[in-house]
Amino acid sequence: MKENSPHSLGRLGITADTIRTYDRRIPRYTSYPTAPVWTEDVRGPEWARHLEETSPQSGPLSLYVHIPFCRKRCLFCACNVIATRRQGMADQYLDDVEREVGLVRGLHRGSEEVMQLHLGGGTPNYLNSEEMKRLLDILKGHFQFSPGAEQSIEVDPRIATREEVFRLRQQDGFNRISYGVQDFNDDTQAAIGREQSREASFSNIQAAREAGFESVNIDLIYGLPRQSPASWHDTIGCVLEAKPDRIALYNFAYLPGRLPNHRRLEEKEMPSPAARIEMFMEAHDRLTANGWRFLGMDHYAREDDSLTRAFERGTMRRNFMGYTTLRGTDVLAFGVSSIGDFQSAFGQNTKKLNVYRAALAEGLLPVERGMVLSEEDILRRNCIESLMCQARLDLKDERVAEIARGVRPQLEELAADGLVRIGGGALEVTLKGQMFLRNIAVVFDAYMQEMQNKVTFSRAV
Ligand code: SF4
Repeated sequence: MKENSPHSLGRLGITADTIRTYDRRIPRYTSYPTAPVWTEDVRGPEWARHLEETSPQSGPLSLYVHIPFCRKRCLFCACNVIATRRQGMADQYLDDVEREVGLVRGLHRGSEEVMQLHLGGGTPNYLNSEEMKRLLDILKGHFQFSPGAEQSIEVDPRIATREEVFRLRQQDGFNRISYGVQDFNDDTQAAIGREQSREASFSNIQAAREAGFESVNIDLIYGLPRQSPASWHDTIGCVLEAKPDRIALYNFAYLPGRLPNHRRLEEKEMPSPAARIEMFMEAHDRLTANGWRFLGMDHYAREDDSLTRAFERGTMRRNFMGYTTLRGTDVLAFGVSSIGDFQSAFGQNTKKLNVYRAALAEGLLPVERGMVLSEEDILRRNCIESLMCQARLDLKDERVAEIARGVRPQLEELAADGLVRIGGGALEVTLKGQMFLRNIAVVFDAYMQEMQNKVTFSRAV
């Protein structure tokens, strides 16, 4: 990147040096403490006890259901996926999910009102219409969905038909939809083993709009093989034309040491670090110049989207599903690898389908690791969430101020680089700092030192 870059980041004073300084491997902070810190001290019996004891204090809920199946594994994917085309897999899985929902509901003594449902994967639209209806019947048979509940679903445009998109909206009641697009360029799609036509992406977004979805999200990734600033320019042109309400723009985390499918990507076809930065800047500039607002941490939304309004009101929150408009609801999660976030504790289900199935067959919750947060964890978690969602941290609370005093030298370094401002009883993230939110959040992470030698996190830039 040139020091006199015409891009907005150049104007913000973000130079190649700044990027080199802050391009470290850091967690994305969809949780704090982050998943590598959790232990096997929280397994099924402990999670069951936690639900039983703490649920009387719980308010309205968010539900998450993980559908792990995909027809084929994409080469870039880092999700917990079972690639299969076997008939009957989904139906058998729903038997297990039904058992799990029944077990959890039997332990849960708090409000049964649901404000938010998210189906993630894998590919939630791997389920056919009967299977989807069955899943919703299971959930609605055990919980009370509030009339204004957000119902969101991740959809693979390669297999979704127009009829299906209409059915998801009008019959199944989903009001938010998220499509995996990654790139509009055929060559890149071929390189990542995805082969999703431009036509499939465009027609799906159009169908979602016509079906009346309140919000349409697309996921994009830069840093993939065969991407170049020129091909990416074209992709962003397509995004402007398709006009999704929300965009999640991720930097590709290439982890061949951890993910066997990444080893099948051609390393020599990956764009250089300089090209990656160029692509991020191209996307950021053109999106913000054309009616999308940067909300921090990879996310953009149209000015009139509810997420932008929540950001402006200071009520936006962050959880495993990304940014959300809902204030601190407890999350009950179902399905393999899913993560519950309930009354200051995390519990993650096993990632193995056979283990998941066996636990449920014995009437046990399939949770295999997690963590009950200490008071200090909760404080630090609130600090990180506030920085990531409101771009500021109020230091008037003496306990927060004490944590901030403990990391004063690091904060002063960030301030010297123009990423934060300290004063007036608050820590403010500057516009420049919003590009490096993970680097600011990590200062408040008490476990980072310990984790650094154990885990390879993705790069911050
Ligand atoms: S469809 Fe989505 S979840 Fe499935 S392998 Fe591809 S990227 Fe991963």
